[in-house]
Amino acid sequence: MQGKRGLIMGVANDHSIAWGIAKTLAQHGAELAFTYQGEALGKRVAPLAQSLGSELVIPCDVEDIASVDAVFETLDRTWDGLDFVVHAIGFSDKSQLKGSYVDVTTRENFSRTMVISCFSFTEIAQRAAKRMRNGGSLLTLTYGGSTRVMPNYNVMGVAKAALEASMRYIASDLGPKGIRCNAISAGPVRTLAGAGISDARLMFTYQKAHAPLRRTVTIEDIGGSALYLLSDLSNGVTGEIHYVDSGYNIISMPRPDVLKA
Ligand code: NAD
Repeated sequence: MQGKRGLIMGVANDHSIAWGIAKTLAQHGAELAFTYQGEALGKRVAPLAQSLGSELVIPCDVEDIASVDAVFETLDRTWDGLDFVVHAIGFSDKSQLKGSYVDVTTRENFSRTMVISCFSFTEIAQRAAKRMRNGGSLLTLTYGGSTRVMPNYNVMGVAKAALEASMRYIASDLGPKGIRCNAISAGPVRTLAGAGISDARLMFTYQKAHAPLRRTVTIEDIGGSALYLLSDLSNGVTGEIHYVDSGYNIISMPRPDVLKA
């Protein structure tokens, strides 16, 4: 990643998936800028960024498009181009991440979840692509609840399905410019966002018991796969959903030995 510059969006603390990705990229020589949502998180993100040698730490709330524009204007003052972006942003009202999707979901939260967790990636891609003069790589984070029903994931699953579809459209539109766009579908990780889903602990235990690797994934596991997708090692790969979930997605039923126990 020597000589490559990229924007990391979605670090809340040192448990964040975006932080696992940032650490790996920095270890491999990438130059990084970070965004943070709100002053309270900024106080956590600034020292983390500094520990990786980054002074570019910019506020951004994707619900406010002016703040997204301001991020890229700040980057323009320091960098003359951009090589990659990591979009690790998701939000939905916690009270709707439990119970029956069809009963609990409101129009207001549906729209808000979609704007923050899905459409923000398109708005960021629009702006990033203009700065990617020698091609580039865009990466977002998704979850298997997009294609299969996971209890309580509810409207987030719907937003992730839309995010995955938009990832493919972005890959198709920007491919001719040498800009690639991919998603990592991560297994459950204990993060702030992950904790918002009801019974997250149960999902964690279940996946650990049934995934082929018999463990959940770490943010460092995700960092390794992100390094591949953001570097020239994956130059022929775009529009892909790359599963980093200990293989859980290939399993169709619980282990017989667990069921019989
Ligand atoms: P996290 O809480 O550490 O990160 C979520 C980030 O989204 C935070 O930094 C938060 O500030 C940011 N965010 C939320 N609303 C925002 C807004 N309006 N503007 C700007 N930023 C906003 O949790 P995480 O698990 O690292 O989540 C990162 C991504 O990974 C999310 O898209 C999440 O859905 C996805 N993911 C998480 C898991 C998991 O189990 N934790 C699994 C698969 C995918």
